[in-house]
Amino acid sequence: MANVLIVVDMLEGFCREGYPLFCGEDAVKIIPFVKKKIEEYDKQGLPMIFVADNHAPDDKEFQLFPPHCVNGTKEAEVIPGLFEAARRRVLIPKNRYSMAKEGRKPVENPDLERV
Ligand SMILES: [Zn+2]
Repeated sequence: MANVLIVVDMLEGFCREGYPLFCGEDAVKIIPFVKKKIEEYDKQGLPMIFVADNHAPDDKEFQLFPPHCVNGTKEAEVIPGLFEAARRRVLIPKNRYSMAKEGRKPVENPDLERV
């Protein structure tokens, strides 16, 4: 059985101060660790799945939380250097806490290799 690294919500909106759902300095501190793990998996040719909060401007989640990670905004982007460090990768946008509950299809992008 092959290992797969799942990277969840390592997004500008959660890891950068100034956004409404910034998770604090602890989120910033783990970025180098996550990048190191991605590089380790990449060296071994292992696949990675990036799960990313991604909402429509009128998403019903905004009844509970302030608007965040709206599709197409900087806030919804993966922290620079993480996604790029993975060669075997796929990005799965989600609009709820759990991708399993209401996950969406992987982004169709010719630059991404399906895993
Ligand atoms: Zn959300």
